[in-house]
Amino acid sequence: MRDFSTGHEWLSINTATVRKSAGADLPLTQIIEACVARGIRAISPWRDQVQAAGLANVARLVRAHGLQLSGYCRGGMFPAADAAGLRAARDDNRRAVDEALELGAPCLVLVVGGLPGALQGCAAHKDIAGARNQVRDGIAELLDYAKPAGMPLAIEPLHPMYAADRACVNTMEQALDLCEALDRGTRSPRAALGVAVDVYHVWWDPKLQAQIARAGQRRLLAFHVCDWLTPTADLLNDRGMMGDGVIDIPRIRGWVEAQGYAGFSEVEIFSTGNWWQRDAGEVLDACIARHRTAV
Ligand code: ZN
Repeated sequence: MRDFSTGHEWLSINTATVRKSAGADLPLTQIIEACVARGIRAISPWRDQVQAAGLANVARLVRAHGLQLSGYCRGGMFPAADAAGLRAARDDNRRAVDEALELGAPCLVLVVGGLPGALQGCAAHKDIAGARNQVRDGIAELLDYAKPAGMPLAIEPLHPMYAADRACVNTMEQALDLCEALDRGTRSPRAALGVAVDVYHVWWDPKLQAQIARAGQRRLLAFHVCDWLTPTADLLNDRGMMGDGVIDIPRIRGWVEAQGYAGFSEVEIFSTGNWWQRDAGEVLDACIARHRTAV
């Protein structure tokens, strides 16, 4: 297992972590400058932030600074209530692949979606099995586009509390079942379809260690860290800084690295009440410090 205690060369910042500084929106260009100033070598930007800053502009900045990406957030949201909705999701996901390619991302992260309309507060139906079928078909169709283009897709299983509105793929086992059903090739060193392991979503799973071993190096495309706070005040936006909660992050990182994972550990914190209220520089400094002591 790599020693993170002496430096932060394997730290990546998911740019949502500092999407707000002292409560105000922070543009992606300023996030990039703040990361570069601290010797942070990688980021994982969100599509809305990239769109606001301009895709070509962000791609140029990333290259000028020699920054790497640890992923691109995000594609997915496949289920829809009608054919037009399915087509819109397909087209939007293809654009996400194109953007990921232009930015030089190593993978496009997929948050697969749940019951159509649930995120807006009005689910179109209660058929979660049907939604899962649409997810499977949507990933299969996107894989036909992304695989020849050379953009790996990383399914991120989300904690079951998000099954209705954000992702009906909720465990590593479920995600890997999809990977093995849809992407059977085993020769390439990196799979065309794999998983993003986010400790916030999967830390509780009694099968986690076994499923990480099942994924193996080929399908372990990304590793996200933050912490689970007790109590958690908000289901979406109360993630903790590493070390402030109950997740044994080094243990999980050990399992991932035992498979040969040697990529970035990406800090991804959504925190309306705490970290987004603080100055972004302070947050980044805390990420660097905790990456040494708690990851
Ligand atoms: Zn994540």
